[in-house]
Amino acid sequence: MKPPPFSYHDPRTVADAVALLGRLDNAKLLAGGQSLMPMLNFRFVQPDHIIDLNRVEGLSYIREANGALEIGAMTRQRDLEFSDVVRARLPIMHEALLQVGHRQTRNRGTIGGSLCHLDPAAELVSLATGYDATVTVAGPSGERQIPFAQFPVAYMTPAIEPNEILVGVRFPQWAPRHGYAFVEFSRRHGDFAITSAAALIEADAGGKITRASVTIGGMGTAPSRARELEQALTGQAPSAQLFRDACESCRKLEAIDDIHAPASYRQHLAAVLSRRALEKAHARLTGADAAQARPH
Ligand SMILES: Cc1cc2nc3c(=O)[nH]c(=O)nc-3n(C[C@H](O)[C@H](O)[C@H](O)COP(=O)(O)OP(=O)(O)OC[C@H]3O[C@@H](n4cnc5c(N)ncnc54)[C@H](O)[C@@H]3O)c2cc1C
Repeated sequence: MKPPPFSYHDPRTVADAVALLGRLDNAKLLAGGQSLMPMLNFRFVQPDHIIDLNRVEGLSYIREANGALEIGAMTRQRDLEFSDVVRARLPIMHEALLQVGHRQTRNRGTIGGSLCHLDPAAELVSLATGYDATVTVAGPSGERQIPFAQFPVAYMTPAIEPNEILVGVRFPQWAPRHGYAFVEFSRRHGDFAITSAAALIEADAGGKITRASVTIGGMGTAPSRARELEQALTGQAPSAQLFRDACESCRKLEAIDDIHAPASYRQHLAAVLSRRALEKAHARLTGADAAQARPH
């Protein structure tokens, strides 16, 4: 399949890209093209204009600022995968990225493209949900911030106006010592997950959980936080029994039926994967994973 005909635009600044969006009817932004090109080739979208963001200055960066990691929208998934600062400050992102498509798709795919495409099973969308990230969008009257909880407005539809561009995303960091894990189930490695679980935990000196974030992806129109589970964990001493019992509440989360799996199977996966993610996160928090990996 070939894409339908379109005019190509190649702006160099965010202001020029925003101006083009305001001036041109039926325009689409191109980032890494890893979702847009298949959609063009399948004729799911038929824009008259493509505005390429690849040569727009200042949209590719990873930097620490005010207790957060700020990432430019055009930062490639590969650059995040190989970033030392991401591994040190946001280690769950490294683990999640290894499950995003393939090396070839990560070479081109960007974080901004993934967040705007907003697939309910996308790993980076789950992480933005779990971290209460904030996205920055630029439009004709300047920039505005959107808390990620308000970013998905419908299935694969972000809260961006037609004349706005996502320029960056901010992930508030967790304590330097925290537990994390991203686990998912997909039919083949590199496929979108049928269901995924992203877990983050912090504990006090006595080992009790002081903070927990668990996000389930692939269940509904967007990844969602397992709030009942998070509450059940907070203030408790971690144990296999606690994780097993508390994760059962994930069976009550709303889920879709589709060609890949019925809702009941996704709900079962949500309970199993959240438990596995929490066990892994806890082992990392206590250092038990390193002890297991050491030769005897
Ligand atoms: C074989 C294959 C397997 C894949 N597997 C996975 C997977 O397991 N998990 C996963 O998460 N993804 C997967 N993907 C998708 C991949 O991660 C894409 O990189 C991502 O979904 C889109 O990012 P992109 O930069 O390529 O965006 P594009 O494809 O260029 O754009 C995607 C959409 O976002 C819009 N957009 C892009 N950037 C901006 C911006 N800055 N502001 C506003 N709108 C913008 C575009 O207009 C378009 O509508 C897979 C892709 C392929 C081809």
